[in-house]
Amino acid sequence: MYKEYSTKHILNVHKHCDGGWFWIKYSASPYLGCEYGCSYCYCREDKYDPHKREIDPEIIELEDPFSEYIKVKKDAPDLFRKAITNKPKDLIYLDSYQPVENKYGYCRKILEACLDLEFPIFINEKSPLLLKDLDILNEINKKSYVNVGWSIIASSADKAFSIFEPNSPNPNSRFESMKILSENNILTGTILMPILPYIYDSEDNIEEVVKKTASNGGKYILDGGLTLNGYCKNYFFNFLEKYNSSLIEKYELLFSNDKLYSQVNIKIHKIVLKYCQKYNLQNYITRPIDYFPIEYQINKKVSEKLFLKAREIQLEGGDRYKEWAYRKAAWEVDELEESISTIYRNEGLKGLLKIKGVGKSIGMEIEKLIKSNN
Ligand code: SF4
Repeated sequence: MYKEYSTKHILNVHKHCDGGWFWIKYSASPYLGCEYGCSYCYCREDKYDPHKREIDPEIIELEDPFSEYIKVKKDAPDLFRKAITNKPKDLIYLDSYQPVENKYGYCRKILEACLDLEFPIFINEKSPLLLKDLDILNEINKKSYVNVGWSIIASSADKAFSIFEPNSPNPNSRFESMKILSENNILTGTILMPILPYIYDSEDNIEEVVKKTASNGGKYILDGGLTLNGYCKNYFFNFLEKYNSSLIEKYELLFSNDKLYSQVNIKIHKIVLKYCQKYNLQNYITRPIDYFPIEYQINKKVSEKLFLKAREIQLEGGDRYKEWAYRKAAWEVDELEESISTIYRNEGLKGLLKIKGVGKSIGMEIEKLIKSNN
């Protein structure tokens, strides 16, 4: 069921770039809810869920309002164009295409605005439906930047797939679409998230996903673990029960024991790294910087390294203080209003240490990065 509604809000401007992951600063979606209805989807959390039962009586009877009742923002393309005009150029995150797009075509119109205004985009994609707009993607790619990350956690449409991603396009159709993008010189890869523990964390499944990514022209694998909060946990557990009820106990234990949760995810990450190495894929996305003003590009390059360091420490279960020290320094460098090269040229290391969040050890790393860039 599709329901149009009026809103003035379409563009989210994030406080900081999500450094180390997709490199996004903005996000936008013309639709709320998702017809694919993945059972692990965190968007059902109260803070994201647009389907407030108490204020929307039409959906009280629905089993999963999130996937059965899609809210469509009236005039979304115009709203988007207006919201993004005059914003500093930076990467925009767009959600996956879904069947509602066949009726409204708003994703295409949003892409047209990105093309006209030369904004770069990252799409987290689940559906070959995206390819209907390959012509515009190619144009945006020529003018600025396009990166399509295919959300794939299962190497094939097995029993678990039909339970945990009940309405999604088959993984093979996503790999085939990845190949088409790659043949069009569009950067693409796999978002291997969330890897479901005890279900999709086997070496066989992970190797197969990495291998298929490589053979279909993907350039990276970005992995991440499962989070289950509030309503999402109960919702997911219903599907877990259907799949294999003996896993309920293991999941209860996993999600009530931080140490175990962390150990399991570190182990999974190591498997991903092993196969990324074997198939020569990056485990991160290189930060695009060409669309930033030339004098700030060095800030983006330096902060990229700091963000990636923070992410590496996080995924390997390292020291949390160190992780946050890198992340905070990265944000400061990323958002500086003058070139870090100029600061260094004028004041040397002393100048770098005046940047908030930059201590001696990170300051010296930044110094090396600036020197190696000259
Ligand atoms: S495709 Fe993405 S947004 Fe849609 S239900 Fe699945 S995880 Fe959620």
